[in-house]
Amino acid sequence: MDCVFCKIAKGEIPSEIIYEDDKVIAFKDQDPQAPIHFLVIPKKHIDSNDTLTDEDSFLISHIFTVIRDICRKLKVNQDGYRIVNNVGEDGGQTVKHMHFHVLAKRSLNWPPG
Ligand code: 5GP
Ligand code: ZN
Repeated sequence: MDCVFCKIAKGEIPSEIIYEDDKVIAFKDQDPQAPIHFLVIPKKHIDSNDTLTDEDSFLISHIFTVIRDICRKLKVNQDGYRIVNNVGEDGGQTVKHMHFHVLAKRSLNWPPG
């Protein structure tokens, strides 16, 4: 499958990795929308939230605890941050490998555009 995030997970495309374990990888977004903007992805290919299975439950909760720990390490947990998961066309998903954006170090607007 020709998936850019699978290639990043396998190290076939270079990225600025900030965290990695056997299940997930976190790397800086190439087009940052905030002073801190990184992506957390499962290493396993999942198209989107729409194709999640019950077996993925641990993986998704693991991603959230990884985000918690990275944000504490970056010391943005006090001021706060935003986790975004875009799903499908109306959700603005451009890369069809499930990913969580984490944005921090600026006051983010609500509602999003
Ligand atoms: P989406 O619009 O699908 O929610 O977000 C995809 C994100 O992936 C975008 O913010 C885009 O900048 C980022 N992105 C796409 N291709 C690459 C890449 O090859 N490397 C990195 N670091 N980020 C990428
Ligand atoms: Zn993939």
